[in-house]
Amino acid sequence: MATTLNYWPRLDQAPKAYFVAPNGYHVSGATPAVAEILDHLVRRLDAEVEKCEEIHGYRPSNVGINSYVQDTNHASATAIDYNGGRHLYEPNHKAQYAADVYAAIGYDQDQIDKIREIVADINRAAGFTVIRWGGDFGTKHDPSPFRVPGWRDPMHFEIYGSHTGGRAVSAADAVKAAAARPCSASVSTLPKVMSSCLVAACS
Ligand SMILES: [Zn+2]
Repeated sequence: MATTLNYWPRLDQAPKAYFVAPNGYHVSGATPAVAEILDHLVRRLDAEVEKCEEIHGYRPSNVGINSYVQDTNHASATAIDYNGGRHLYEPNHKAQYAADVYAAIGYDQDQIDKIREIVADINRAAGFTVIRWGGDFGTKHDPSPFRVPGWRDPMHFEIYGSHTGGRAVSAADAVKAAAARPCSASVSTLPKVMSSCLVAACS
């Protein structure tokens, strides 16, 4: 079976599962669990980092701006591009990255820290790395063992390390449970084990 970079099956057409993003777009997920995890991620990005104005998920491997990446995870409906026009793909914009890296990434350091915190919260709740942020591709923050510099893709988030549907389901259940956990204290005062209590659910 043809797969994409994260070993999920490549799809010839959009899958049935989807979530509705805060801006009203319908965004595909390979499975209902994948859609739930991406939905949770997007709600937190929208509330805590930057309003969701444009979002894209599934696209067939022979379509799109980076169609030369035949095995893109977008083709397995396991990746999203969030407000893509503002967050530049490094291989296509090397000069902008060299001139002003924050302008090229399109986030300031506080927003970058918040994105990493949201991704870490989800991964901690899941119990393994289920989400990876493209803005860290090739950097020391990248959980992948393939750290080739020059490939940052800050618009991009993808499902990672959950190459079977079963693992995605367990991750989605854990993320939902963490989000629903009642919180009576502010997150900063919670012990480490409780810090996966997701900020959006506690405010
Ligand atoms: Zn992407």
